[in-house]
Amino acid sequence: MTLARQSSPQSWRPSQLLIPTPAGLFCPPADIHIDPVRPVARALITHGHSDHARAGHGAVLATRETLAIMALRYGEGFTGTRQEAVPGEVTRIGPVDFRFVPAGHVLGSAQIVVESKGLRIVVSGDYKRERDPTCAGFEPVPCDVFITEATFGLPVFRHPPAAAEVAKLLESVRLFPERTHIVGAYSLGKAQRVMALIREAGYERPIHIHGAVATLTEFYEAEGVPLGEIRLVSAGERKALGGEIVICPPSAIQDLWARKFPDPVTAFASGWMRVRARARQKGIELPLIISDHADWDDLQATIRETGAGEIWVTHGEAEALVHWCGTVGLKAKPLHLVGYGDEGEAEPDAAPAEAAPSEAAP
Ligand SMILES: [Zn+2]
Ligand SMILES: [Zn+2]
Repeated sequence: MTLARQSSPQSWRPSQLLIPTPAGLFCPPADIHIDPVRPVARALITHGHSDHARAGHGAVLATRETLAIMALRYGEGFTGTRQEAVPGEVTRIGPVDFRFVPAGHVLGSAQIVVESKGLRIVVSGDYKRERDPTCAGFEPVPCDVFITEATFGLPVFRHPPAAAEVAKLLESVRLFPERTHIVGAYSLGKAQRVMALIREAGYERPIHIHGAVATLTEFYEAEGVPLGEIRLVSAGERKALGGEIVICPPSAIQDLWARKFPDPVTAFASGWMRVRARARQKGIELPLIISDHADWDDLQATIRETGAGEIWVTHGEAEALVHWCGTVGLKAKPLHLVGYGDEGEAEPDAAPAEAAPSEAAP
């Protein structure tokens, strides 16, 4: 299916509508930045991960969930003013129409459609195509220019179905009923997705969580994502949690905190776990390849589905994806945007501590 669109003769050139700057993507006709990495006057934000959603802007336009997540993480004063973007509805700023469309990445995540004078550019933020019970699915939008990430933009990265990875976890729990299974997962999105997948697999025992995961887990539940019985791990009870599943931020896996559980099996839910050497190096006994980013095949499929003739790659393995675009006749360039380390899939020891006490609150 090709969805290529014709832009009108008096249209903008793409580089007039959006340009990469040190602060992030900038739209001169509307005077706004998208996912700025530095404080700016007016920001449009795709999702709540800390490398995209930062505090200190004058005004923020984002989905209701993303605004709520930012307030939870940074406090209510995270921005001067805020405005809710309703998915599917157009917000006009100057001569430019902006529309937020689900990206399937984490709760509230959105692509931002930027359209003016017949030119349409889609800024996809971070996204994935695999079904996720905790957030709305990615919706492809036909466009002239598609701006994509490339976190897993190499042929080695092909994610297996997440349900199969969760089945491995539950099989290990069955085989080692005396051991605690400690699963490292990012506190926004991945942790709740893993919990939801564990429930979909039929596991009904309580799931235990580290204190650093609690606030966002409560938020997901309040937003109507059912996660079953969740219990906060208290410092004194760890010895008694043999045979149980504990979800913690990746940084806690190698902490003293994790060693207090009975003979723990350490697991980590990340697309990086495809690289077995990396799992071994981090001391991960049970790598779970569960990613909130598109893999190599899904990056390509998504680019094709948008029908875009031109592809800009923001961060990740940009060169490989740009090269692939060339082989299929698409114009493509890396934007070399700096500052998107990706909270959602960073390596375990690169994780921000994120106010995570090494001991969970009692
Ligand atoms: Zn993200
Ligand atoms: Zn990111």
